[in-house]
Amino acid sequence: MKKNISEASNRIKLLREEIERHNKSYYIDNQPIISDFEYDLLINELQTLENKFPELKEINSPSVRVGSDILQGEEKNSFVQRSHKHPMLSLSNTYDKSELLSFNERIIKSTNTSFRYVCELKIDGSAISLTYRNGSLLYALTRGDGEKGDDVTANILKIKSVPKKLKGDNFPEELEIRGEVFMPWLAFEELNRVREENEDPLFANPRNAAAGSLKLLNSSEAGERGLDIILYHVICEPSIFKTHHEALEAAESWGLPISEHTRVCSTIGEVIEYLDYWEVNRKALPYPTDGAVIKIDSIDLQRDLGYTSKSPRWATAYKFQAERALTRLISVDYQVGRTGAVTPVANLEPVLLSGTTVKRASLHNSDQMKVLDIHINDFVYVEKGGEIIPKITSVELSMRVAEANRPMFPEICPDCGTNLSRAEDEAKHFCPNSTGCPTQIKGRLIHFCSRKAMDIMAGEATVELLFNAGMLKSPADFYMLRESDLLQFEGWREKAALRLISSIENSKKVPFDRVLFALGIKHVGETSAKSLANHFGNIDSLISATKEQLTDIEDVGDIVAGSITDFFSKTDNIMMIEKLKEHGLSLKGKSDNSNKLSEILRGKNIVISGNFSVSREEVKTIIEMHSGKNSSSISSKSSYLLAGNEAGPAKLEKAKKLGIEIITEEQFKRLIENN
Ligand code: NAD
Repeated sequence: MKKNISEASNRIKLLREEIERHNKSYYIDNQPIISDFEYDLLINELQTLENKFPELKEINSPSVRVGSDILQGEEKNSFVQRSHKHPMLSLSNTYDKSELLSFNERIIKSTNTSFRYVCELKIDGSAISLTYRNGSLLYALTRGDGEKGDDVTANILKIKSVPKKLKGDNFPEELEIRGEVFMPWLAFEELNRVREENEDPLFANPRNAAAGSLKLLNSSEAGERGLDIILYHVICEPSIFKTHHEALEAAESWGLPISEHTRVCSTIGEVIEYLDYWEVNRKALPYPTDGAVIKIDSIDLQRDLGYTSKSPRWATAYKFQAERALTRLISVDYQVGRTGAVTPVANLEPVLLSGTTVKRASLHNSDQMKVLDIHINDFVYVEKGGEIIPKITSVELSMRVAEANRPMFPEICPDCGTNLSRAEDEAKHFCPNSTGCPTQIKGRLIHFCSRKAMDIMAGEATVELLFNAGMLKSPADFYMLRESDLLQFEGWREKAALRLISSIENSKKVPFDRVLFALGIKHVGETSAKSLANHFGNIDSLISATKEQLTDIEDVGDIVAGSITDFFSKTDNIMMIEKLKEHGLSLKGKSDNSNKLSEILRGKNIVISGNFSVSREEVKTIIEMHSGKNSSSISSKSSYLLAGNEAGPAKLEKAKKLGIEIITEEQFKRLIENN
């Protein structure tokens, strides 16, 4: 469809805003919302429009600048920043091999000498620049904004393959070598497993996990993330090398980690062979790759070809396509979560993708729907990235049918009919009717019962049943339930009813911090609930706390504080808390000595692994009750690895390596009982 200049200007504005938003999610938050392919389509569309309407070009457009990972605002000064001697740029990229032929043609036209390529795997991590002076590592910088980067030397030194000193004596006085810090698949899976256990947000893919780990302020923690490094670009001025591959060989002789999968190619045909081979065989590599990089081997020719503002002209990346499938969009549902967030979910004609049948895919929010320009009946591409939920990455416009029409994002809540709202800084629409919207109420009740909250034996079906019968509207109603109320429902026997009633009774002993977590205040997770309980000691002090008092606490920022004051400003919530008090729930008490059974584990960091005679949650509580601290991963600071049945082999091995004492459940019991 042809666009006039005003349409193009509007679209360019929307694309730039959308790309900047994704740059922040990707480079700063390390939590991308869309896949790289979708992102590259946006950049491509922006570049095409800017080329068509040059009067709309801007020097600050994300199409001509590298995305910056430098933190802004409060966290700005977390790392020392240093200037790069030579800008650290990005790479042009393509998903289409025929575009590589054009790249080859352009190089042939610009030189009258024969040339060779070097093909390398494009490792999917985070770029790093190491500077060695007189053979000693001086500092390690991230790419940052291309001009200056964060000094992450302390974290880089935790990577075993990075030499502090170079081998031999034939290295230049000052040497810069660039490469990729990455997280191998195994380390990534272990990290996400631990994060899932701790209910921390998961990393979408190893790239984001590597970039996030590189920016950890605590280098010991960074050291436990299993990062690794492969270096691919030697810079010394004046260059002592004629070719890129000679430079890599020299780097290897100095003890620097270089890829073993690099190949010198004399023709573009050989380049294509390399790509075809790795497109298939990369799946067996222990680390993630998202493509291959094709570089001119001759350093002189590299210099002649030079750079654009964003990337070298002497190299390009061929990106491997994530597996995707084409299917029809049948309809869009709008799902309301327990916090009121409304998420559009696409219903698709079932299609097979990476071994599973996909019927639904997330569309995230209304902006995403606009950017995709999605219509009902469209044929859409569905992809599974490193993420669990499949995503719609693009629309096949050539297959759009006449009956296609845009789905309308609802203005009112699909469940309760309240007008939806959207805050300026939020991508999502919310239903503000938190106290009257049935889906939100049920969501909160289910959360209240969850294991890490009140541990009440009522799942989704029971909550739904009691809610529909009008017996359950607020968490306080659980404490009014009698066995006879439950027995009137079909299929309910005495045993099940008693089990539920006794778990409700037991929940009165759940400590204050877990009750606080159970209330489901937006943004208050387990950790912040603990900090709040410890700081205020009782619910009344928390209710009367000002935003300023709240932000003074560790784990509580402006957003969390705002959400807490908002929660307690609602009369319904205050009434519910009064009722919970009447029912005898623990609404006071710090996780301090007054609640403790003993001091025997004071100062001990304990990691648990495997299965025990009681639940893992109970083991953790026992540790805390005896003043110990639970840690999720083994480090030199761990005191014990408490190993149950089928304890993780990786944890056992790490504990042995670090000399951490491994104790059985029996030994642990004895330790406590002796007290
Ligand atoms: P890039 O990752 O496409 O390519 C450049 C980078 O490749 C280099 O900085 C380097 O880190 C890496 N690399 C790996 N192996 C290499 C090798 N052998 N030689 C040279 N470089 C190698 O570019 P970028 O500027 O870092 O990021 C842009 C890309 O990031 C986009 O194309 C997109 O795929 C992704 N991105 C995604 C989102 C999202 O929301 N999903 C947002 C921003 C960027």
